[in-house]
Amino acid sequence: MTAYLDDTATSAVETELDVAAIKARYLEERDKRLRDDGVGQYRDLHGDFEHMLDDPYADPNFTRDPVVEDCEALVIGGGFGGLLAAARLREAGVNSIRMIDRAGDFGGTWYWNRYPGAACDVESYIYMPMLEETGEVPTEKYAKAPEIFAHAQAIGKKYDLYKSALFQTNATEVRWNEDRGRWIVKTDRADEIAARFLVITNGTLDRPKLPNLPGITRFKGHMFHTSRWDYAYTGGDGRGGLVNLADKRVGIIGTGATGVQAVPHLAEWAKQLYVFQRTPSTVGVRANRATDQEWFKSLQPGWQRRRMENFNNLVSISGIEETEDLVADGWTDVIRRVLLIQRKLREAGRPAAEAFKYAELADIEQMEAIRGRVDEVVKDPAVAAALKPYYAYFCKRPCFHDEYLQSFNRDSVTLVDTAGKGVEGLTETGVIAGGKTWDVDCLIWATGFDYAAQRKDGPEVFGRGGLTLSDKYRDGAMTLHGLQSRGFPNLFTFSRLQTGVTTNITHMLRELAAHVAYIVKESRARGASVVDVYEDAEAEWVEHTSGAAILRKRFFEECTPGYYNNEGQVRTNPKNANYGGGPAKFIQILEDWRSDGRLSGLELS
Ligand code: NDP
Repeated sequence: MTAYLDDTATSAVETELDVAAIKARYLEERDKRLRDDGVGQYRDLHGDFEHMLDDPYADPNFTRDPVVEDCEALVIGGGFGGLLAAARLREAGVNSIRMIDRAGDFGGTWYWNRYPGAACDVESYIYMPMLEETGEVPTEKYAKAPEIFAHAQAIGKKYDLYKSALFQTNATEVRWNEDRGRWIVKTDRADEIAARFLVITNGTLDRPKLPNLPGITRFKGHMFHTSRWDYAYTGGDGRGGLVNLADKRVGIIGTGATGVQAVPHLAEWAKQLYVFQRTPSTVGVRANRATDQEWFKSLQPGWQRRRMENFNNLVSISGIEETEDLVADGWTDVIRRVLLIQRKLREAGRPAAEAFKYAELADIEQMEAIRGRVDEVVKDPAVAAALKPYYAYFCKRPCFHDEYLQSFNRDSVTLVDTAGKGVEGLTETGVIAGGKTWDVDCLIWATGFDYAAQRKDGPEVFGRGGLTLSDKYRDGAMTLHGLQSRGFPNLFTFSRLQTGVTTNITHMLRELAAHVAYIVKESRARGASVVDVYEDAEAEWVEHTSGAAILRKRFFEECTPGYYNNEGQVRTNPKNANYGGGPAKFIQILEDWRSDGRLSGLELS
């Protein structure tokens, strides 16, 4: 970044690169992928593919008696959001807690996503959110999925949450009962749970999707989505060893963060692997390494929160200055150089247009390095050319991997690049792409998830007077801090709307959980049984957060489509954005609100 504070360095970059040609190529590549149907190109798995939603990890014959009870707090969702909320509620003295999850255990994302190679992309020392509490030591800087899942289970055990959990259970109706001052939640196992407080934290990327392809119902081979990996078919486990694929032709559709992690294992074991690509991901260096046990032992109490904050400050537009970079990885490096440079230049007194120009140059430089790495690793120049991404770095979710690109050097691996068109259809025996049919025995869908902001999952929530949350949010979300909404007393929802969003998602979940526990504890201490939001407090927050919203409309319009920009149909309602002041400022707002102690904006009765 300092290079950009020096004009000679900047002009050197400009003369070496044909910036105009690169930008024109980005728009050309975007145009190849823009389509009128946007998110409509996808379908969920209900109907013809319902069976693909079955839980391969749980007992399909599980039964239990319905639970009818009254509890203090009900948490819907047993991923890290729910676990953190329940753990903090326990610490706040709430003993009567119930948890519901459709999965067969805690873990959320890490329960479902057990595909080989799955691992956290944010450093495990800050991603696994309760390491100090559970006393676990991640084995690697970027731990694999089984270890992260085990951490979720460890939180469940540590806070005695297993006895509270109703697994393999879906909430079907959530309704506020004014007379009882309770949320009444019904489930598909005939439970009826009355709860004074309700936390809904059911994830954002939990509903697998498939492209709506011609012939999709005709395919007769074996197929599954990456979030329901069929180890009975492939052999092996989350760490690899897919021995049953030795005589199989396997196709994988999708080269996002999931595809990038799964491909190296498929490449290692399949007789023949076809990787169907519409848009290549950016694949930076991972440099994973084993945990230095001596270093870990030397960490002082409070280290984890400090490390999370240090990371957050370094990746947040509102982060306070840090003198050291504790995590020091691809995220802090690239966000500093590419995303935060505009602010730094503005702070250094440079005009806005100049700061913008330099930020664009820094991005192009980063992408040139990503493309250069493809050339260094991939031997076949035509394959290398197809694996090079042409878009601005943060148009898509950045990936980091040290074996993905290398997989394409194997004779048994074929990159089927579709020149931005995507797979065209399926036959009984294979995949049509690039005008050719590729026969496969097994087809794996790494095609991602419905982004919850696009299509809402889970039961409808009926608040005071029967108003639904969907109706209340019809023209945009209405919340206080993204967590509470007037007319929905004692309810806390964890989503991305109007809250801080940070690269390390579990950090924000931890902050939200602490906030919920504080409100519950304080309202109980003040003798209140119902907590709602005052209208003016909600309006004030909506105005504040909408004013701070950074929609980056122009940026996303120029991006290649994906779920980040609503498949090219960019959303423009500032009420449905996350808190634009940045995650560090958002956390500070919550902390200040708590230390003020007045529960401002809350109506207690
Ligand atoms: P994504 O939505 O990111 O990727 C879906 C992939 O399917 C894209 O490559 C997409 O291509 C491709 N695709 C869709 N339709 C077609 C088609 N018709 N033909 C060919 N290809 C098609 O899903 P992921 O599961 O990869 O990732 C979702 C998110 O989950 C990530 O962004 C990340 O937030 C999280 N994640 C995190 C991980 C971690 O932390 N380690 C690991 C994995 C996931 P196109 O790009 O052209 O749309």
